[in-house]
Amino acid sequence: MRYSALEILKQGLTGNKTWKPAWRDPEPKAEYDVIIIGGGGHGLATAYYLSKKHGVRNVAVLEKGWIGGGNVGRNTTIVRSNYMLPGNEHFYELSMKLWEGLEQDFNYNAMISQRGIINLFHNDNQRDVYARRGNAMIMAGADAELLDEEAIRKELPFLDYDNARFPVKGGLAQRRGGTVRHDAVAWGFARGADENGVDIIQNCEVTGFDIKDGICLGVETTRGRIGGKKVAVCVAGSSGHVMAMAGMRLPIESHVLQAFVSEGLKPVIPGVVTFGAGHFYVSQSDKGGLVFGGDIDGYNSYAQRGNLPVVEDVCEGGMAIMPMIGKARLLRSWGGIMDMSMDGSPYIDKTHIDGLYFNGGWCYGGFKATPASGYCYAHLLANNAPHPVAKEYRLDRFISGKMIDEKGMGAQPNLH
Ligand SMILES: Cc1cc2nc3c(=O)[nH]c(=O)nc-3n(C[C@H](O)[C@H](O)[C@H](O)COP(=O)(O)OP(=O)(O)OC[C@H]3O[C@@H](n4cnc5c(N)ncnc54)[C@H](O)[C@@H]3O)c2cc1C
Repeated sequence: MRYSALEILKQGLTGNKTWKPAWRDPEPKAEYDVIIIGGGGHGLATAYYLSKKHGVRNVAVLEKGWIGGGNVGRNTTIVRSNYMLPGNEHFYELSMKLWEGLEQDFNYNAMISQRGIINLFHNDNQRDVYARRGNAMIMAGADAELLDEEAIRKELPFLDYDNARFPVKGGLAQRRGGTVRHDAVAWGFARGADENGVDIIQNCEVTGFDIKDGICLGVETTRGRIGGKKVAVCVAGSSGHVMAMAGMRLPIESHVLQAFVSEGLKPVIPGVVTFGAGHFYVSQSDKGGLVFGGDIDGYNSYAQRGNLPVVEDVCEGGMAIMPMIGKARLLRSWGGIMDMSMDGSPYIDKTHIDGLYFNGGWCYGGFKATPASGYCYAHLLANNAPHPVAKEYRLDRFISGKMIDEKGMGAQPNLH
């Protein structure tokens, strides 16, 4: 059923009796052309584009829990395409363009809000680095604007400009960046994929792979064996655990990242703001809560909850740039499992096992990538060849030394 203003009016006048479920609850079939493991944003987007763009409709998305229960519903909702390296920028800019038309495309309100993002800088060296990044973005077709202190003061008067250690000197703005309601993205892609005939099967955990003579023939699940001509893994923080069942050890570590929401406040922050001298990023939700986060917890874990030292660290970052945040009460916090790769960039690739594909390594930046990740993974599955903007996201890039290390940190997954 199509959602529209007219439909809301019609349903309102007739007692809201004929709304249909957003997606079906089908029993798994014995065999599919493509099985996607993981009903997060990326898995659902892959199913959506596979069915919509490539006409591959005999597809199942197997989700061990419920749609939206993973990182897609746990992130701080920031989208942007302010990357610098050639392997990344075109991919993230494709994602931004897909975000821009997504609600009309899948007929769902995902509250895409291009309210802008400003990365603050605090010294001359950092300004030069941001100028370089901005130029690289513009050359790749994205938008970027370098703002001086005066311009930032006009937009964000509440910042602590005279902080003794981290005075705010300016910022790099991307006006097309912003926020998107995270779980609505999962629901919109799920509904769109279901409409195209994809089976979305919740409460169905993959517990093993059926691999014979180097060919993947299907998966074992808590609801029985399911055959698949192609099996596409897309489980984000569980990547290491799931691929180990196929005998693969990945260049990925799993870490916890926390998010925080304050009590509802009157509108104060116009867009997304990030601290340049520590790890802190903040925006304000439409309900008024300040939504913010910082560093990962710093130890490997599959637990979807964090610990108090990081709460303190993140709040200190907030206090350094906007001391008024100290007056707001913290309402909620939660954690998600991050698939941290060795160079901070993801993988969208075939594996050495025929018919088995892998998508992961999104670190804590995979939400903004959701549409492009699905788009490019669907392209790979349909054509058996990488999409041009994702061709550097290979699993073997460490053998050839072609790292995509945006932050220049080296093989330190906890620092990307
Ligand atoms: C606190 C936090 C803040 C973040 N902030 C941002 C941000 O502001 N901007 C940004 O771009 N990114 C952000 N991210 C990162 C982003 O959320 C993730 O990179 C992205 O959501 C990962 O892709 P996904 O949506 O497919 O993952 P998920 O939603 O985690 O999907 C993976 C799914 O696989 C399922 N699964 C796992 N194992 C199995 C199995 N054996 N069988 C079946 N199903 C299985 C899981 O249940 C899960 O639903 C943040 C993440 C967190 C946790």
